[in-house]
Amino acid sequence: MKIMKFGGTSVGKPERMHQVKDLITRDKQKKIVVLSALSGTTNALVGIGEALAEANKELAKERIDSLHSHYLQFYKELLKTEAARSKAEKIIKEHFEFLNIILKISFNEAINRDILAQGELLSTKLFFTLLQELDIPAVFLPALDFMSIDENSEPELKKIAEKVKVILANYPEDQIFITQGYICKNHRNEVDNLKRGGSDYSASLIGAAVSADVVEIWTDIDGMHNNDPRVVDKTRPIAQLSFDEAAELAYFGAKILHPASIWPAQQYNIPVKLLNTMEPDAPGTTITAKEIGSGVKALAAKDGITAIKIKSSRMLLAYGFLRKVFEVFEKYKTSIDMITTSEVAVSVTIDDLSHLDEIVKELEIYGMVEVDKNQTIISVVGNMIAESKGTLAKIMSSISDYPIRMVSYGGSRHNVSLLLDAKYKNEALKSMNEGLFEW
Ligand code: ASP
Ligand code: MG
Repeated sequence: MKIMKFGGTSVGKPERMHQVKDLITRDKQKKIVVLSALSGTTNALVGIGEALAEANKELAKERIDSLHSHYLQFYKELLKTEAARSKAEKIIKEHFEFLNIILKISFNEAINRDILAQGELLSTKLFFTLLQELDIPAVFLPALDFMSIDENSEPELKKIAEKVKVILANYPEDQIFITQGYICKNHRNEVDNLKRGGSDYSASLIGAAVSADVVEIWTDIDGMHNNDPRVVDKTRPIAQLSFDEAAELAYFGAKILHPASIWPAQQYNIPVKLLNTMEPDAPGTTITAKEIGSGVKALAAKDGITAIKIKSSRMLLAYGFLRKVFEVFEKYKTSIDMITTSEVAVSVTIDDLSHLDEIVKELEIYGMVEVDKNQTIISVVGNMIAESKGTLAKIMSSISDYPIRMVSYGGSRHNVSLLLDAKYKNEALKSMNEGLFEW
């Protein structure tokens, strides 16, 4: 069994959906195909929810209608036969009737999540209709029948695995299964989701649940690149990464993969491949437990970082100071990315500013607090880079023109992280690209 996940751009145009059909029928292996919503749809649904949250029904209606016309155009280009088209019309009608009914009832968060689920429901149903039109045998697996999260919004992998196995046992002969990424049920049995970009996470959870041979993440780029292609002209795909390296890169800004999607694959030792629908035979990136290669493999940058420094003369020779500091962040469920300490001060970074004011106020009990917003973390990733001689010097000299606010070194063998003002990010990435890689 393998998992093949296709993102929004891979299903975002009728001709791309046809390509997906080609890709899933290239071999005879049993596969679960996980689809995202058509590109732009989830954003549009978020917009509809926002309009409703502000009680702006007119705007919500406008947005529903504009999305609706997009789908009415889409299915006509996707499907050719009368039978398939009338099926698609019914599907689209059902989902847009639902959205229009919501306009009439009172809005709440649970309904908002129902709205967000429409994208994946539509994409999978339309794709399934295409397979039916082409007489390609496939089974439709509603994700809401097996994907679930607990009260902390954590996926219930054991339950998911049990349910998937029971469902799949009904179809011993079938080869192609179609399901939705992103959506799930929560502990109140309401429709919920795995957060934006969560279809990758779905794919990896399903891969773990069925002990798949491989989880293939199909996108519109030929794998994870060694630097940010939006910033730097010259980048290249990385052929092999370990789970740890990939997790660092995904977390620190490589947009190609949802960071949470690494752990299920890692835990069950299932290789993850990042592949390109436009170049299906390109090798892409393979992520496995193997730690191979040496030296710096890649850079990733994460924006929107805030650094907080707590300076206290009382920290000198004191124990328990760090615990008190961390407890403040824990209390406000704010996770810390980087930490550096000196004898009289500690600096941390966060990216979630929802409780910044409260956090600062409580930290002021322990010392002087300084806040620097608009920072960027550049994460340098590679096998054993933190242990290999000269790497740190090379990193530092590649970025010597820019002031560095924090350095995190030695936390893991695979990573060195640097914090600098966001205004230096692009230039820093370019100069590191020249200094750290052979071209
Ligand atoms: N459709 C969802 C989103 O746009 C999930 C995904 O595509 O991964 O965030
Ligand atoms: Mg994505």
